Amino acid sequence: MKALDSHCHADMLSKLSPDFIETYRTKQIGGITWSYNEQIVSFKHYPDYWDELQTLCEGWTQNGVIFFYLVGIHPRSIPPDLKGVRKLPPEITDAIMKHTENPLCLGFGELGMDSGTLEEEKIFRWQLEWAEDHLPKTKRIGIHTPRQNKEAMTERLLRLLEDYRPLHPFILIDHVTPATYDMVYGEGYVAGVTLQQGKSSPEDLIKIIEKYPKMVKAILVNSDGAKELSQPYLEWIDKHEAFDEEQFKLLAVSNALTFFNVSLEEEESK
Ligand SMILES: [Zn+2]
Repeated sequence: MKALDSHCHADMLSKLSPDFIETYRTKQIGGITWSYNEQIVSFKHYPDYWDELQTLCEGWTQNGVIFFYLVGIHPRSIPPDLKGVRKLPPEITDAIMKHTENPLCLGFGELGMDSGTLEEEKIFRWQLEWAEDHLPKTKRIGIHTPRQNKEAMTERLLRLLEDYRPLHPFILIDHVTPATYDMVYGEGYVAGVTLQQGKSSPEDLIKIIEKYPKMVKAILVNSDGAKELSQPYLEWIDKHEAFDEEQFKLLAVSNALTFFNVSLEEEESK
């Protein structure tokens, strides 16, 4: 495997971008698909959605393109009927528990806040509380930071996460930029850099690594591809002369395997 795209939305890519799986196969890219579905109208549909992610990942992995998935409720995918309830419904927690027993499910994601409403904060906290009590220690948590008000929202997320210290070693803060990485680094989190138009560019990644050379061991590069493949990510996989091969391997694949606790031999031998 040349790269592990540690954050994408492969269920959407497989519907909307017909050349997705063959592109990943040809370029030897595997992936982790994170839960995000704005079409969900009721929380009761989440178990089926997560089962669908599982089925997709099992199929691709059996066919030689290794894919993993995360389950969870994205801040932009909160169904209206979750607004009235007082805790995570058992339909949701039972389904999450079931998936955490599947080796292709690497944990929780994507969680976080987007516009920062009280509703988003409530659902985010419920999931973190559940993770503190029930998430197996082998699993991980992927956290989204938004495009809008990025610095202020990252700050707010980091403050909120102070209430969940035991989870810190298991958390990835994603979509960091040169402007937000200082904060994330200061708290000791593993971070994701998303190479995509409107998120980070390969030059942004270089800036971060130049400032924090040692963190080449704690940064994961991903595409967050959803409706379409992210060209900046794919181009970086092919051409990355600012990094030597060892650095590239860490950023593109090894750090993701280490953080998410994945042994590739196990998956490849299936
Ligand atoms: Zn995403």
